[in-house]
Amino acid sequence: MRLVVRVKLLPTPEQAVALDATLRAANQAANEVSRLAFERKIFRSRDLRNITYGHVRSQFGLPAQSAQHAIKKVADAYTTLRSNLRHGNYGPPGSPRRAKIEAKPIVFRPRAAQPYDDRCLSWNHDARTVSIGTLTGRIKDLAFTGSPDQLARLREHRRGESDLLFRDGLWFLSATIEVPDRPLAEPTAFLGVDLGIANIATTSDGVHHSGKGLNAVRHRHRELRRRLQAKQTKSAKRLLKRRRRKEARFAANTNHTIAKQIVTEAIRTGRGIALEDLGGIRDRVRLRKPQRVTLHSWSFHQLGSFITYKAIRAGLAVIHVEAAYTSQGCSRCGHVDKHNRPNQETFLCTSCGFAEHADVNAARNIAARGVAGWAVSHAADDAA
Ligand SMILES: [Zn+2]
Repeated sequence: MRLVVRVKLLPTPEQAVALDATLRAANQAANEVSRLAFERKIFRSRDLRNITYGHVRSQFGLPAQSAQHAIKKVADAYTTLRSNLRHGNYGPPGSPRRAKIEAKPIVFRPRAAQPYDDRCLSWNHDARTVSIGTLTGRIKDLAFTGSPDQLARLREHRRGESDLLFRDGLWFLSATIEVPDRPLAEPTAFLGVDLGIANIATTSDGVHHSGKGLNAVRHRHRELRRRLQAKQTKSAKRLLKRRRRKEARFAANTNHTIAKQIVTEAIRTGRGIALEDLGGIRDRVRLRKPQRVTLHSWSFHQLGSFITYKAIRAGLAVIHVEAAYTSQGCSRCGHVDKHNRPNQETFLCTSCGFAEHADVNAARNIAARGVAGWAVSHAADDAA
């Protein structure tokens, strides 16, 4: 499984100046390459390199690898754009929006993210520094910081490229890590996790992880957003952007905490983790309007991916099960009936009389499907 770890950089003022100059030059170079690509209708990475590399290096003074990455970034951006156009994401052919996008080259922000590979970025985990190529030569002792958890993952699993980022006045490196996804031990049982709205996550053990704090913050931010949006000034827009990021960070922190508690419990009890197949979740988030804004589907997906990721990293078995009828089926007798749900919170089986909190019943169904699903999908391994 390929994942991303973002660590904060702690540059000295001089180092920050060098990073800034390098990032700006890389994006100026990318804009120049993009203009040429657009003019000459040449979009393949190799072809673009042939016509722009020498020019880009001499004009912008970039290190060799940075120049190559800037060119590749342009080629990748046009690939993405073409794919979006093909899928109609900018409207049908001939629509004004699409025509506007097709009429000019892609433009990169002055400090858009820039990729670095191992030739121009190396990591010293003991000293907690990186060495990075800049316009003015290599910075050898650029300090970084992260949680103990992040640092351990970087040290063990980092592979390939990292992105240099500048966000809200701070510098970051987003590093790619590759985590092996074979469990250390065969699971004998599964902890089922139901993702929901009032309770963000409920386990088959009957533990509810409430989203109260999260929803309260969202409501507060929404009020503020409404007032700021009415203003339409530049400073209001800036404030809005900052607010959105803050809200996203808060949601991510909440999701991390919940995921950690769930995975810790599975480790403690020697179980695997069963989750609903996340593809189905979006369909479930069709609610009355006030709730719909409360809960963004990305937050669901984020929690699901945090749990999956932390579990796989801990060597646990993870299985995603079919989501259909997990909320209407009885976890004791298997009877499926929409009347089993007299209200949002309650499960009451019309056949056997089994009563339980609706989310706990769903989580138990997910756990049971996990056991069955694992046996089926790993039968082939055992036979081999
Ligand atoms: Zn029943």
